[in-house]
Amino acid sequence: MRNLKISNGLPVAAIVSLIAVVVLAGTFTGLSSSTSYEAGDNEGGQSGALFAAETGDSTMSDKIEKTDAEWKEILTPEQYHVLREKGTERAFTGVFDDLFEDGVYRCAACKAELFTSNTKYNSGCGWPAFFDAAADGAIETREDTSFGMSRTEIVCAKCGGHLGHVFTDGPAPTGLRYCVNSASLDFDSTGDESSTETNK
Ligand SMILES: [Zn+2]
Repeated sequence: MRNLKISNGLPVAAIVSLIAVVVLAGTFTGLSSSTSYEAGDNEGGQSGALFAAETGDSTMSDKIEKTDAEWKEILTPEQYHVLREKGTERAFTGVFDDLFEDGVYRCAACKAELFTSNTKYNSGCGWPAFFDAAADGAIETREDTSFGMSRTEIVCAKCGGHLGHVFTDGPAPTGLRYCVNSASLDFDSTGDESSTETNK
């Protein structure tokens, strides 16, 4: 605004300050596209479009959300029952209960890395057991009072898929037992030492 008074009447200064105000206002109100027409300037209109594009680009979290129908398309009936309906496979029937090879256990639904063979142990409970998650934040816990019991449910942090429960009767160093349904897991053998990042 000071430009208007101290300048030698240069209209350019007025327009520049107007655009600056418009752009500033646009960042707060998102109305830049309508007001920029007043500047009568093509560049103003373009910057308005740019702002709109920027605010519209919202790749927020990396959480995965699908409808029940979409999950049914990519999961087997058993996987769907466990992961999406909080089912439990019968003890000693899961394919990973007796597996003790080196590798990574991923969420069968979204492929997020959940556990590694380094923390898998034979708990004798009939389901794959781990004493720790693959990484902080990979697994979320929820209070579960179903079936008249007080348990701690574990779910995949990325897609919310039901994995099983975590108990406090596990071995050192954590003292935890992540009791997981095989149906909620995929296994990647790491025989060739290739460490694949899970950014997606
Ligand atoms: Zn998942």
